[in-house]
Amino acid sequence: MEVLYSSTRNGEKKVTASQAILQGLSEDGGLFVPDHIPALECSMKELAGKTYQEIAYQVMKLFLTDFTEEELKNCIDRAYDSKFDTEVIAPLVEAEGTYYLELFHGATIAFKDMALSILPHLMITSAKKNHVDNEIVILTATSGDTGKAALAGFAGVEGTKIIVFYPKNGVSPIQEKQMVTQKGDNTFVVGIHGNFDDAQTGVKQLFNDRELAQQMADAGLQFSSANSINIGRLVPQVVYYVYAYAKLLDEGKIADGEPINVVVPTGNFGNILAAYYAKNMGVPINRLICASNENKVLYDFFVSGKYDRNREFMLTSSPSMDILISSNLERLIYRIAGNDAGKNAEFMAALSRDGSYQITEEMKEKLDDFYGNYASEEETAQRIKSMYENTGYVLDTHTAVASAVYQKYTADTGDQTKTVIASTASPFKFTRSVMNAIDPKYNEMSDFELVDELSKIANVEVPGAIEEIRTAPVLHDNVCDKAEMKAVVKRFLGIHA
Ligand SMILES: *Cc1c(COP(=O)(O)O)cnc(C)c1O
Repeated sequence: MEVLYSSTRNGEKKVTASQAILQGLSEDGGLFVPDHIPALECSMKELAGKTYQEIAYQVMKLFLTDFTEEELKNCIDRAYDSKFDTEVIAPLVEAEGTYYLELFHGATIAFKDMALSILPHLMITSAKKNHVDNEIVILTATSGDTGKAALAGFAGVEGTKIIVFYPKNGVSPIQEKQMVTQKGDNTFVVGIHGNFDDAQTGVKQLFNDRELAQQMADAGLQFSSANSINIGRLVPQVVYYVYAYAKLLDEGKIADGEPINVVVPTGNFGNILAAYYAKNMGVPINRLICASNENKVLYDFFVSGKYDRNREFMLTSSPSMDILISSNLERLIYRIAGNDAGKNAEFMAALSRDGSYQITEEMKEKLDDFYGNYASEEETAQRIKSMYENTGYVLDTHTAVASAVYQKYTADTGDQTKTVIASTASPFKFTRSVMNAIDPKYNEMSDFELVDELSKIANVEVPGAIEEIRTAPVLHDNVCDKAEMKAVVKRFLGIHA
């Protein structure tokens, strides 16, 4: 059955999956949502034993119904290949009786690779299907992780160019090094004098600049977005929850039909929403446990039904979850409002006007699938240390937030359901925080000494992504002021008008 997509803020206009991917965000500011969530066609028993790529096809074909089998399989094969350092793509590791789904074996060792390795292929396929001959120019502002994952995904992909702006003094040294050493003739990386908000605002202005759009069209170019609200990033994330269940079943860890819990360290709400979609497709998932760091907007929301971003922004050791507006939550709000775009649009208007909104009791009842909690900086560090001491397994800071929240959940509820924790980054990406949590004595070492020490104590090889940047030459040394962003983009694109 065909799945069409409409905006969370206006249900009238329907587009195909490929159109939604090309467009990214709807003109009214809403997010594209499927008109229904398709049910899996194969039983879990049939999926058990299948490869990641095979399961990816079984899941994605149900959402991306205007892609042919050949197109979709081609995208999948190009994405989930030797860029990943393990053939299984997303290994499940058992520790303390819980299963850690390692989503960090891709090019940039964080879970964003799971979707950003396939998005470029979905996008050029979508362009072809819709007879768009223009070259696609991906324009992104990043606070660190997304930029590198998008660069790695789009580098060398024919028919695309990618431009990434990052705050020159606002990312970690490892993150900056990862970006400025990026290879590929179609990649451009620019540091700006300003913070992440400046970069983001500048990028939004460029997207809305009509004069620039016309000049680009004349040169055979058009902008698109690799932002996490693109449906082309959400759908590939549903896959690994189906895969995890099938794998547990295949290994005899669970019985057919036995429910599992899923814990997700959450920022923009994309990853946990994918788990919710998997549940709605028929994967036997019991509770969806939403883990926050000290920016606990979502925890407060699940407790009170009030979403309130009016609070202090906390900088934590899990920076990819430092977020006060979880964009993808809008897709859940739309759903619990009974797929009512008008009602959802009112909540979102209140959010931008007052910074808050309160859902109704009736809507709140539909959130029973979710449990929210958070971990403080202290609890997160403690969790890294105790896990290491109990098992020798080293968690990154984001995964440690999830693990700490899971402990609170079992203490709160006594629920013994088998549980999968989404492990969203390699500890090698946040080496200093991780090593300091294990022992403060490590604070004296340099970044790369810490990398080698972590490799030794965890008995894990240094990932290629880190090994590469140790000696890689800097290929991008562009820095500009906020006001110069447009000129810089035009220069990169060879637009002289
Ligand atoms: C982006 C990110 C998250 C948050 O994921 P959302 O889909 O935004 O909720 C968690 N951990 C890591 C390491 C990330 O990069």
